[in-house]
Amino acid sequence: MQVRVLDTTLRDGEQTPGVSLTPEEKLRIALKIDDLGADIIEAGSAITSEGEREGIRKITSEGLNAEICSFARAVRDDIDAALSCDVDSVHLVVPTSDLHLEHKLRKTREEVLEQAVDCTEYAVDHGLLVELSAEDSTRSDMEFLRRVFSEGIAAGAERICACDTVGMLTPERSYEFYGELSELGAPLSVHCHNDFGLAVANSLAGLRAGASEVHATINGIGERAGNAALEEVVVALKSLYDVDTNINIEMLYETSRMVARMTGVYLQPNKAIVGENAFAHESGIHADGVLKKAETYEPITPEMVGHRRRFVMGKHIGTHALRQRLDELGMKVDEDKLMEIFRRVKALGDMGKCVTDVDLQAIAEDVLGVMEDKVVDLEEVTIVSGNRVTPTASVKLKVDGNEVLEAGIGVGPVDAAIVAIKKSLEDFADITLEEYHVDAITGGTDALIDVVIKLRHGDRIISARSTQPDIIMASVEAFLSGVNRLLASEASEDQQVVR
Ligand code: MN
Repeated sequence: MQVRVLDTTLRDGEQTPGVSLTPEEKLRIALKIDDLGADIIEAGSAITSEGEREGIRKITSEGLNAEICSFARAVRDDIDAALSCDVDSVHLVVPTSDLHLEHKLRKTREEVLEQAVDCTEYAVDHGLLVELSAEDSTRSDMEFLRRVFSEGIAAGAERICACDTVGMLTPERSYEFYGELSELGAPLSVHCHNDFGLAVANSLAGLRAGASEVHATINGIGERAGNAALEEVVVALKSLYDVDTNINIEMLYETSRMVARMTGVYLQPNKAIVGENAFAHESGIHADGVLKKAETYEPITPEMVGHRRRFVMGKHIGTHALRQRLDELGMKVDEDKLMEIFRRVKALGDMGKCVTDVDLQAIAEDVLGVMEDKVVDLEEVTIVSGNRVTPTASVKLKVDGNEVLEAGIGVGPVDAAIVAIKKSLEDFADITLEEYHVDAITGGTDALIDVVIKLRHGDRIISARSTQPDIIMASVEAFLSGVNRLLASEASEDQQVVR
């Protein structure tokens, strides 16, 4: 058995509050979803606007593998609009619950049934494939619902779809409901919303009961709490039910990231399959288990969905696990340096930060570089900065055993600190800063800041780095670490370059 996937990221997904895509953005997402392998792409609702039609036309003119579909209400204008975009099919939606008929449409059941049949015939006559869809079907009278579908199929609808528009199904009820509708003689689609967090479970139950197509969106975006998440449905089908789709699941993570970026709807870290923490392990028992055998704490491998595994170290880490991790990263450290790395990782943990492998590597490299015998040692640094003061720094250094106190001003706080340090060293060594480079490793304003500098003393040039959450401290430490290396290398008369 194989399940067909209708991706409605560009229609139901775009109805996410605050999301609006330009025609070009729609096209880029459609190209990605076509690569991903969706059988049907619901590209939008052609009646909406000229921009929407432009977006749909861009998509239909690409000759994609997927069937390109437009949403349409059961009115001829909507179908004409879809026809003007050259789509393959329409997702023709009629409300079927009395609630929607009375309060939204103010029409009788008979009137709606007539519209559904008329528009199905009209669309089919104009060469469109019709997927006839019942809105709020799960709160509709079952007998009326069956009649709408039966007469729609007789009028030429090739597929039918029952929408759980406000997410009221439970998995048990979904199984029963879709099971009953799957006997009507046309391929049946499940369309579930996530108001109770059950969209994926309800979709799976409906598919299990006999539906053969699922409507879903990337990242589960959509109105209110969203739609069934495509990545979750597809991976659950494959891994838990042994049911295939045409989706290339190793593209799920990159597709998710692209849709998040383009819609501006970012994911919670613990989102299943594609969240940033979906394959992250805090060091300790779990990380240990995963290192020995991934299946211990991972139901699927991250590679399977194009994601990556991360180990995160925080305040729970022990020295044993830390040493093991450093060993695995190929870093040999003695006991003193291990304890210094341990102290820094814990300190970051206490500040509420986590330490990834990349961070750990930077910290370890920093410690391995800094822990030489120091000619210059920092005792104090104080910065004053703001919009109505001249950035000023005062530093107290121990230079070759002597205490030196200096102050400096600069264009900004980092510059002021470096000026003050250079002044403190003036009488001791003539050191110039050749290059300064700063990078935020992990993104976000609380990221670790990586500072790399190049210093010159005479004809010697050396690089040094420091990694810290505070940009000023990172700059000061990188500078002092460079100075110490430069002076140490001078003493030993052999030039060394350390990252
Ligand atoms: Mn919907």
